[in-house]
Amino acid sequence: MNRTHLDVFARREADAYALARPLTQARLERGASEYLDGVPMHWMKDWPMPFPMLVTKATEAKLTDYDGNRLDDFCLGDTGSMFGHSPDPVAKAIRKQAENGLTYMLPTTAALEAGRLLTQRFGDFKWQIATTATDANRFALRVARAVTGRPKVLVFNGCYHGTVDDTMVELQNGITAARQGLVGQVADLTATAACAEFNDLTSVEDQLKTGQIAAILTEPVMTNSCMVLPDDGFLTGLRELATQYGALLIIDETHTISSGLGGYTGVHGLDPDIFVVGKCVAGGMPTAVWGLRPAIAERFKEYDAQRPAGHSGMGTTLSANPMQFACLRATLSDVMTPENYALMEAGAARLAAGLQLVIQKYEAPWHVVRVGARVEFICAPGPLRNGTEAAAAHVPLVEAAIHTALLNRGCLIAPFHNMMLVSPVTKKKQIDRLIAAFDDILSDLFA
Ligand code: PMP
Repeated sequence: MNRTHLDVFARREADAYALARPLTQARLERGASEYLDGVPMHWMKDWPMPFPMLVTKATEAKLTDYDGNRLDDFCLGDTGSMFGHSPDPVAKAIRKQAENGLTYMLPTTAALEAGRLLTQRFGDFKWQIATTATDANRFALRVARAVTGRPKVLVFNGCYHGTVDDTMVELQNGITAARQGLVGQVADLTATAACAEFNDLTSVEDQLKTGQIAAILTEPVMTNSCMVLPDDGFLTGLRELATQYGALLIIDETHTISSGLGGYTGVHGLDPDIFVVGKCVAGGMPTAVWGLRPAIAERFKEYDAQRPAGHSGMGTTLSANPMQFACLRATLSDVMTPENYALMEAGAARLAAGLQLVIQKYEAPWHVVRVGARVEFICAPGPLRNGTEAAAAHVPLVEAAIHTALLNRGCLIAPFHNMMLVSPVTKKKQIDRLIAAFDDILSDLFA
């Protein structure tokens, strides 16, 4: 791809984005300076367009911005809205609960019902509720360390499990090190974490042999490093190694809940000691759940009975509030259904096949990966096998230009990488529009 041509393309698309949003630009100029760096959450600066969009309305898989531009939403809040924006059963539950209080640090009957549904949907675990998947992972790690008496979490190079301090490590020349770019990092993360390569059971076993690993924390598919699928036997191997060396296996399903009913664990019959899922589990209401297998719960109970009184370091005040339970119950019973997953699967298969055909048409050295409702195009040949290969596969300038160009053609995809989600309410014509937009962009880039 010619660099000058890419620069001209990127400039033209950035200008087109701005031209379509005069009201947004003026409104931001009048009202964003109260925020640190002009955004309410600093990641919002990382979107590739010249300035953020202000959203005025979101329904189904569509967004409208402040200038009245309408977009097909394939980002879906990076999974928080994977079932579509404000699914009817969830919106109804919110309206009803709003009449009965928002938070009181006590459970409700909906909480009891949600517990039953969690077990029915995800399996035999003893559940706890958190507000973010970050928190759920943090609390799961505390339990893992408590019951094993070991200090370290083993994560994979290129992983993401939220802003959990302990997981912010990477491999540098094959050695675990704190990630570059961490803000205000003072603790030595290598004292509490170790890093291995995904799909490399030998590197996992090398770490387990130290006797320091309390838990392996992993997604079943690496979805935050492009998209890296597990090799045949890798996840079974992890289970066996964890058991052999007395470490726990924590499966973080926060993104792979896109795989189908029960997440990747349900679809592929995995056997984690601790199960974590957040984001869309309550239809978009900030909620995460983490569950311990009964045997681990027993070990934790023994530990808990003996620890001195005082703060546990787990839980937050607004967690397990009645609004979360109302939404959790509605999502588990009426939204996370086999019918909805079938629609998502069919739509995502259509999208992946369409994108792959476009890639072939232009003979781009790229590929497409799909896990259920989650599709990713990768601007490099594949398949990728680990985080190191995934990091090398990114072409930031090309990807940023494509993201803005897709926006100008009415399609929003996730920032940071090239991820698209298909909800049960995403229409075929939206999928076909995205494929056509991708075709139009590649026809220009590869001209
Ligand atoms: N786990 C995984 C696999 C994730 O992808 C993310 C967020 N992208 C998280 C945990 C953290 O979720 P949250 O930002 O809602 O805490």
